[in-house]
Amino acid sequence: MQFEPVIGLEVHAQLKTKTKIFCGCSTEFGKSPNANTCPVCTGMPGVLPVLNKQVVSFAIKAALATNCKINQESRFDRKNYFYPDLPKGYQISQYAVPIAEHGYLEIESEKAGPIKIGITRIHMEEDAGKLIHDPARAKSMVDLNRAGVPLIEIVSEPDIRTPRQAGAYLRKLHAILRYIDVCDGNMEQGSFRCDANISLRPRGQKEFGIRSELKNLNSFKNVEKAISYEIERQTYVLEEGKKVIQETRLWDPSKNKTTSMRGKEEAHDYRYFPDPDLVPLIVDDNWIQEIEKELPELPDEKRSRFVKEYKLADYDAKVLTSSIELADFFEETAEPLKDKKQAANWVMTTLLGMLNTKGISIKKSLITAKAFSKLLLLIENGKINANAAKTVFEEMVETLKSPEVIVKEKGLEQVSDQSELEAMVQDIINENPDEVTAYRDGKTKLFSFFMGKIMKKTRGKADPKIVTQLLKTKL
Ligand code: ADP
Ligand code: MG
Ligand code: ZN
Repeated sequence: MQFEPVIGLEVHAQLKTKTKIFCGCSTEFGKSPNANTCPVCTGMPGVLPVLNKQVVSFAIKAALATNCKINQESRFDRKNYFYPDLPKGYQISQYAVPIAEHGYLEIESEKAGPIKIGITRIHMEEDAGKLIHDPARAKSMVDLNRAGVPLIEIVSEPDIRTPRQAGAYLRKLHAILRYIDVCDGNMEQGSFRCDANISLRPRGQKEFGIRSELKNLNSFKNVEKAISYEIERQTYVLEEGKKVIQETRLWDPSKNKTTSMRGKEEAHDYRYFPDPDLVPLIVDDNWIQEIEKELPELPDEKRSRFVKEYKLADYDAKVLTSSIELADFFEETAEPLKDKKQAANWVMTTLLGMLNTKGISIKKSLITAKAFSKLLLLIENGKINANAAKTVFEEMVETLKSPEVIVKEKGLEQVSDQSELEAMVQDIINENPDEVTAYRDGKTKLFSFFMGKIMKKTRGKADPKIVTQLLKTKL
């Protein structure tokens, strides 16, 4: 039987506020355990939460950027469960009425083209603390620095059909949250985490099948791999005539498989109820409009503008707008250049290639857009050729010297003196009579042989345009 996967994603994004959601403690990552705590976030008796206004602003901004409707009145609820990293015994979240609902993101599917993935809801909540287990001492310790750090949870509709679409949705959401600067997106530090819900149904059937929920997906690649694995596993179960059971499963990236964590019978009953310590949250039109005005150009808009303004291929525009830093780097590089396409190519191949091999993100690139632009300007002005530019770039990466200095030091200026090159071409022709005859008899592939000779003579510095012209004439 043919089965169709049905996938829905839940994303927790940590908001970039300076302080926690219900107290004034710092949200800074990496502080010594329990340095960022106070009676409120450690759940002492008698304390009261005070909502951080910036959290609401960021949540509204995220909601507007994902086409959601804002609920002008929403509530905070208590989600009750016991765990030692949750000192109050409940998490303050939004349940019955979240801050925003009914949004969507547009992604591209290889088969279906652009498709919309619905967003069910966005709600605000506080994060829990962290347990540190010390096997050497058979002890567990608790660090409450993260307790009370603000999160938004973004829940998608079960509109996703393939692992690739899941990856595309997440990358898009990640890019948007970073464009609007509400989340740093650091997946290793857990600022952007995803749970995936997957079920299968016979093709053509309307009702959804029983789903499993995958946790511990800490990279885009892992999300795609884990979903693929889960589709295979469930297909196998169903083809055996058995039933998929509703459960939470854990992805093990080292073994490339998922294992059962807990079943439905162990699922929590959270006994949600409105938090009596917090009044309903009212958001007025003015506030929403103010935030709307602050919204920057979003990835899709930037991508269309790059195609229009710089005449880039759509695919290139998509790559270059995949993160705000890359888009900014490209625009700053291209700014003084006439040839925007050349700038795009160099950023995508040479710069990104180097960063990839070195495993550095564009944010941490030591080559600035200004310096990179100067290098490309040297090509555009005919000072160096593309070959030499590659050498200069490698040297820039090594020494961080400016491209002009490297060109001088290494004597890489392009040889574009017409008469000098003409003499050289004549020499090469005189020295290789057999090849000249063969070329004239139609073996035109030999053109690169002559070109190679000239480049060797000039140590790669000859202006290839002029040499091509000269060779064509003389041959
Ligand atoms: P919970 O809070 O228990 O995780 P929700 O109803 O809020 O449950 O659903 C969470 C996610 O699961 C949503 O992203 C939703 O789209 C997805 N989902 C719900 N039902 C299914 C299903 N049958 N198959 C796949 N995904 C599903
Ligand atoms: Mg869930
Ligand atoms: Zn605190």
